[in-house]
Amino acid sequence: MKTLVCQQPGELMWQCRNIPEPQQDEVLIKVKRVGICGTDIHAWGGKQPFFSYPRVLGHEICGDIAALGSGVNSWRVGQQVAVIPYVACHECSACRSGRTNCCENIAVIGVHRDGGFSEYLSVPQQNILLAEGVAPEAVALIEPFAISAHAVRRASVQPGDAVLVVGAGPIGLGAAAIAKAHGAQVMVADTRPQRCDHVARQLDLPTLDPLAADFHDRLRDGFSGNLPQTVIDATGSPQSMNQAVSLIRHGGCIVFVGLFKGDLQFSDPEFHKKETTLMGSRNATAADFAHVGELMQRGLLRAEMLLTHRLRFDELGSTYEHEVINNPQLIKGVIEFG
Ligand SMILES: [Zn+2]
Ligand SMILES: [Zn+2]
Repeated sequence: MKTLVCQQPGELMWQCRNIPEPQQDEVLIKVKRVGICGTDIHAWGGKQPFFSYPRVLGHEICGDIAALGSGVNSWRVGQQVAVIPYVACHECSACRSGRTNCCENIAVIGVHRDGGFSEYLSVPQQNILLAEGVAPEAVALIEPFAISAHAVRRASVQPGDAVLVVGAGPIGLGAAAIAKAHGAQVMVADTRPQRCDHVARQLDLPTLDPLAADFHDRLRDGFSGNLPQTVIDATGSPQSMNQAVSLIRHGGCIVFVGLFKGDLQFSDPEFHKKETTLMGSRNATAADFAHVGELMQRGLLRAEMLLTHRLRFDELGSTYEHEVINNPQLIKGVIEFG
């Protein structure tokens, strides 16, 4: 099988590998579509911490089951599935309380072990989600949507809630779409006009520029004179995250789903007087994946909400640098196989 290996930062190399034999508890997946994530971009750039090379990237995977391990009897060859790339230890206290998404020993397929930039991939049978009746490119995006769904679930967004999503990258777009699907009133803030256009076109939601002088006024105007109950920050920007406390109403809630590798700093009196609920949101659980699969089947989430570029797997060695890494137009790319 053809496999594209990230040998070291900046270098992708084709290899011909043997199709893996599924272990007793595994299923062999014939890969159909793979989404490209920020992780895949940072790994190529050498900016991904705790990352070892060589590595086969790709953790947003749609494929068909091609073979079953000897101990697998609840799946059939030919079923279309999404890969759930998080391999949790099921022993640590986080796992034992059902929070496998923040397992102390988590390993991610396509990050800590080889992933989907390959024609075939063998994964544990509990790491797949049945996803039939949904377009393969949408199935590949169940993973980023599930991260967004987890953030929305953390905030317990209810119908009618006023929700501001800051940052219109794939995770912010997903969070906005899912909060809207839950019946919330949603606005999206991003500094980039092109991202705001995408939000208006694909999500049909109002947008704001957080750097505009009248940002706070427009925010209140959008929510009938109030600040939002919930701010979901998907920027990973310290300037934005440090501002979040000033954007919620009293009794409001902040979810940081983006990650900034440094210290944050904000006003404690502001935080305190609002009795702020502040939460992190990391990865996603199997329940979040299933929830996204359902929303896709109901037509409430579509690939186009994130997807801007399609690439061919057999050309990826030569197109990755200019069409993915150095492409400011790219929001979400999906690789097509076969
Ligand atoms: Zn991802
Ligand atoms: Zn664990």
